[in-house]
Amino acid sequence: MPPPTRRAECLAFDRDDPLAPLREAFVLPEGVIYLDGNSLGPLPRITGERLRDAVERQWGRDLIASWNSAGWIDLPRRVAATLAPLIGADADEVLVVDTTSVNLFKLLAAAVAMRPQRRVILSERDNFPTDLYIAQGLNRWLGGRLELRLVAREAIADALDEDVAVAMLTQVDYRDGSCLDLADITARAHRVGALTIWDLAHSAGALPVDLDAARADFAVGCGYKYLNGGPGATAFLYVARRHHDAATQPLSGWLGHAAPFDFVPEYRPAPGIGRFQCSSPPILSTIATEAGIETLRQADTLGGMAALRAKSLALTDLFIARVETLCAGLGLRLVTPREHARRGSQVSFAMDDGLQAYAVVQALIARGVIGDFRAPDILRFGFAPAYLRAVDAWDAAEHLAQVLRGGEWNTPRFLQRKAVT
Ligand SMILES: *Cc1c(COP(=O)(O)O)cnc(C)c1O
Repeated sequence: MPPPTRRAECLAFDRDDPLAPLREAFVLPEGVIYLDGNSLGPLPRITGERLRDAVERQWGRDLIASWNSAGWIDLPRRVAATLAPLIGADADEVLVVDTTSVNLFKLLAAAVAMRPQRRVILSERDNFPTDLYIAQGLNRWLGGRLELRLVAREAIADALDEDVAVAMLTQVDYRDGSCLDLADITARAHRVGALTIWDLAHSAGALPVDLDAARADFAVGCGYKYLNGGPGATAFLYVARRHHDAATQPLSGWLGHAAPFDFVPEYRPAPGIGRFQCSSPPILSTIATEAGIETLRQADTLGGMAALRAKSLALTDLFIARVETLCAGLGLRLVTPREHARRGSQVSFAMDDGLQAYAVVQALIARGVIGDFRAPDILRFGFAPAYLRAVDAWDAAEHLAQVLRGGEWNTPRFLQRKAVT
């Protein structure tokens, strides 16, 4: 179906949207169009009460007994079980622990050790920097014996050869929103004997992912973006069951031990996914992550990930069409793929003048349309289908056109770069 060409059609779309009730599960400030849920998801309604209970009853009253009575000790696995269906995994292949970067370090070290004859970590030059920094840090720690081979996104398939130990790739690019074919690249990696680590930071909760069907090896992802787990939320990791015995990771903390409460001096890795845990889980953060994932799982009865994906594509199609109609000749260049299969859940435009791109985003934020700027020249708009409406995409495009046409961005207040963009 072509995107709406009148605002009334957007209102009709929203009225008929099977996912419409899900919007009520989030706290969305009046007058704000929130297009930054790919950076920090909004607050789910149930989260405040869950945290209050965890603080006041579980911690405040029941104290240390809550490790058993409130199931704190099992929390990383319990939340993993809630998340697993969203990424096509079995519950015992996932843990909700640590942060994306830390999980990546653990899995990258595990993967490299599983291919001792090979030297190359293959990744993308434009990958999210923390992924590259973690690979660089690991390599330094290993005495520089590895090679970090960085290629353009289009060149990944050709760069896979028998020197590659592991391909460390981000499925949806944070800048341009392009989406890689996870199953195809995984199969190509396996053909040359390489392992894969997928970063699902911009995929989990935004589009259907089927790690098991793709025979993916490892994956990590973020709790505070489309999973709405709150600032600095606990992240997740995935290890395919067939690797559970062979894979070991260097952060061999006590809670990854086979019997942590035996308190023996020798480390012995827990069987299964448990060895990928390091420390006592951050309970408050993980409870908020659980609330975020549970909130998203309310979509299960409303069409599930398939419905979320269909709506995400409808909203991004609509936004692209409206911006191209209203902003023609105003300096925006679409960098997000038009082809659905190659698009994540965001729309990005580049501008020749990076400072202008930054200021345009600031002017939009001042109007209550919250997107973000990504250096050097990208305006980025995330379309989380769980709570956004067609009318939001319509109105956001209208605001963008007004900011550009009136030169509203061109004022010192908007041209001054803040620490967090
Ligand atoms: C957001 C994001 C991260 C976040 O890493 P943290 O360790 O949680 O700060 C990692 N990788 C990608 C691709 C991301 O988009």
